[in-house]
Amino acid sequence: MTPDLPLPTGSITDSALPTGSITDSALPAGSITDRPTAVVPVPDGLTPDDLPAYVYDLASLDEHAAAVRAALPGIELYYAVKANPDPELLRVLARHVDGFEVSSGGELAHVRGLFPGARVALGGPGKTDAELFGDVTRLHVESPGELRRLLASGRRADVLLRVNLDVPVAGASLAMGGGATPFGMDPGGIAECVALLSGQDAVRLRGIHAHLASGLEAPALLELAAAVLEYARELGVTEINLGGGMAVSYAAPDARFDWHSYGEGLARLRRPGEVLRIEPGRALTVYCGRYVTRVIDVKRVHGELFAVVAGGTHHLRTPATKGHSQPLAALPPGEPVTIVGQLCTPKDVLAHRVPVRLAAGDIVEFTMAGAYAWNISHHDFLMHPKPGFHYG
Ligand SMILES: *Cc1c(COP(=O)(O)O)cnc(C)c1O
Repeated sequence: MTPDLPLPTGSITDSALPTGSITDSALPAGSITDRPTAVVPVPDGLTPDDLPAYVYDLASLDEHAAAVRAALPGIELYYAVKANPDPELLRVLARHVDGFEVSSGGELAHVRGLFPGARVALGGPGKTDAELFGDVTRLHVESPGELRRLLASGRRADVLLRVNLDVPVAGASLAMGGGATPFGMDPGGIAECVALLSGQDAVRLRGIHAHLASGLEAPALLELAAAVLEYARELGVTEINLGGGMAVSYAAPDARFDWHSYGEGLARLRRPGEVLRIEPGRALTVYCGRYVTRVIDVKRVHGELFAVVAGGTHHLRTPATKGHSQPLAALPPGEPVTIVGQLCTPKDVLAHRVPVRLAAGDIVEFTMAGAYAWNISHHDFLMHPKPGFHYG
């Protein structure tokens, strides 16, 4: 759906580098012109001194979000802010989504500060009183204990009960449901909540919420949706939030979740009078961000080749948490090289044994860095400088 970020052709020449840049002064003479093939250029408007940097393509995010929106007629679309709360991204997304899903009081204040009138749903286990009693459009109740605290407060609220159904979530990259997890309630917990809600009218039961798994393709998500809808109908509610978790493949960066068949499937499942809502995070923003840095050193240790780049997993923790090699914008082929950052830990690996040729001074561009990237990283470890942020 979203085209690949275009890679300009041509090689970096001495003339393209600003005078006095790190590359000019730190490299052994001749090393730049010694490279016979094209390398990745420094992004427009930046110099090697501006790296490492996050570069966001807001136009491609706009296009992608519009296409997702168009594939889901009649379905409410919320964005899960925890995937990336960058205000520039949120401003683009706000043009396309029906609301925002937040997981904390911090995210709630952030979204309210940017879009005072936006519809917001708040979920997440372990809500403090401030979170439980916040001013939101929908509160996703995660336990009978939470509901008791809410009822005891006497406050008004519109709630969805978060259900963890015992359905198979095979193939998921993360499972929040389908077994014992701290997320939501099993049907026994839901029944307990329904009983607590009877005979009062301050807290209104609007429906159910189910975010059961992450990393599923459309057919598997539709199967889950069918099970959740069947459960909702038995319970007698008509507002159903089906969660997020649409698959994103770091191993196949050009693959895209099939929003069209998902939208068609949801349209088939939906009955008149039912409100269906989804709240994707990763699949909306992951493609619009790049983490761009430069190689400081290339070395061989016990036979293995390593390229050490400026920055590392304290800026882009995603490959460490997901256990993958972060995808790279095209580089010339070469002997497998492990790309590591500047941290003094063997876990600071951005890409493992990738067959590309790198030399000191080369620019390296990690793609698919628009979600669960900067905002999940341990920024202060080792006190290296923070990356820059650029929006195009
Ligand atoms: C994290 C989360 C999402 C978004 O998940 P993605 O995998 O990023 O789409 C949606 N809903 C809830 C409740 C979440 O915790």
